[in-house]
Amino acid sequence: MSIAQGSCPQCGAPMTFGVGASISQVCKYCRHVVVRTDRDFRNMGRVADLALTPSPVAVGDLGTVEGSGMRVLGRVQLDHGEGPWDEWYIAFNNGQWGWLANAQGNWYLTAEVPHPGPLPFFDQLHLEQDVPLAPGMTFRVIELKRGTLTSGEGELPFAVTQGQERYYADLVGPNGGFATIDYGDRSAPPQLFIGKQLPEAAIQIKPMGERPVTEITTDALTCPNCGGRVPAIAPNKSERLACPYCGAVSEIAARRVIEMQEAARMRPDIPLGTRGSIQGQQYVVCGYVERSTEIEGELFTWQEYLLYGPGLGFRWLVKDESTWMWISPLNLTEIDLSRLPHQVSWQGQTYSLRNRNQATVSYVLGEFYWKVRKGETVDAMDFLGPGGNVISRERAGDEVAWSLGSPVSWPQIAQAFQLPLEGSGGQFSAPGGSTDGEGETSTVVIIIVIVLILIILLVLCGSCDGSGGGGGGVWISGGGSRGGK
Ligand SMILES: [Zn+2]
Ligand SMILES: [Zn+2]
Repeated sequence: MSIAQGSCPQCGAPMTFGVGASISQVCKYCRHVVVRTDRDFRNMGRVADLALTPSPVAVGDLGTVEGSGMRVLGRVQLDHGEGPWDEWYIAFNNGQWGWLANAQGNWYLTAEVPHPGPLPFFDQLHLEQDVPLAPGMTFRVIELKRGTLTSGEGELPFAVTQGQERYYADLVGPNGGFATIDYGDRSAPPQLFIGKQLPEAAIQIKPMGERPVTEITTDALTCPNCGGRVPAIAPNKSERLACPYCGAVSEIAARRVIEMQEAARMRPDIPLGTRGSIQGQQYVVCGYVERSTEIEGELFTWQEYLLYGPGLGFRWLVKDESTWMWISPLNLTEIDLSRLPHQVSWQGQTYSLRNRNQATVSYVLGEFYWKVRKGETVDAMDFLGPGGNVISRERAGDEVAWSLGSPVSWPQIAQAFQLPLEGSGGQFSAPGGSTDGEGETSTVVIIIVIVLILIILLVLCGSCDGSGGGGGGVWISGGGSRGGK
């Protein structure tokens, strides 16, 4: 039994371990890592100061996860080469412990479980691979990464060593299942953590821990370039701000300018900060992205709106010339991938490959939950299914995200966000989205004309076996690396 009380061997500050699973503790005064044994406390050397991150949780917080009481004991900070990333070590009141992370407005909660058989080697894994992790439970790989441990705080279930490499695979499972295979620095057998993805509202946090001063005022963000104040929409969840006044893209927590882009050159169809109700859920428009792709030498551009639903997370509205699409995430394990790359199936329906291209971010405005930057590129595949629905796959480096897009009309969007029907979002709209005052009359006229044309075509065509054009432009869902969970 390891000792639970003593003093920091570096600075002498009193030190107490609260949970049996904790092996080490980072002294809050001198930032040295202290490992406890059955006889004493050992000094393992200093870790770097923590980088400022958007943190919805702090060490010392109390909370409940789906009704079970817990407290936040520690945090590790990692870097995948794109800036700091936090994971929290939490203990439940019943003595169990686990890891908590936040990405894309979702929580990811996992706990270590014994694995029945050998796990695949890190090098053997690829994205979307099926890995059986529990009896009757097959998970799919969504992310393969190598990170470096850069810092830590509080109690931890292992001894933090700064600069330690960490290889891991993240997987999704049925019914919101989520798992991490942690290969550490690959010198020891991997550890398996299984749990689930939870909506924001499933976890209640009582803020008891110390928070950086910058986090206390969360009603507004200040652009570090021009000093402009921007209302904060998803406080402590957004990573980057693209200033609507000067165009600067900055790191929110560190208040550091990342890059400059031209100042706001156009007004988005749905202005930033607009609130609306979609499918009975409240959303706020927090970000605007223009993305483009080159197909046979021609540049196609489309617009994406990032929406934040408090308690629910992030969604997207995408406008591609004539079409608006509502985008929501799909659970990868529910998609039949056996006919890739030509087709996928979901809920018994077949979706056929429509586009395959590289999408590049060309302009951003507002708040983003990932480290967005101009020029960011993803490989995208779109599969067209019934009713104009589209399943989309986006791969950014070593992570992949799948989503479902469903067509919505501009009048529906205008109503949801209380925008004028004749607003710019309705431009180029298909029949039905008419912008004049005699909407119904002109719609009827258009339908009659279309019917007449169809009749003429049928008569002219006779027995032709026409294969209708695929239609649709080049919209691609989502944004960037989708948060890098
Ligand atoms: Zn100390
Ligand atoms: Zn600015």
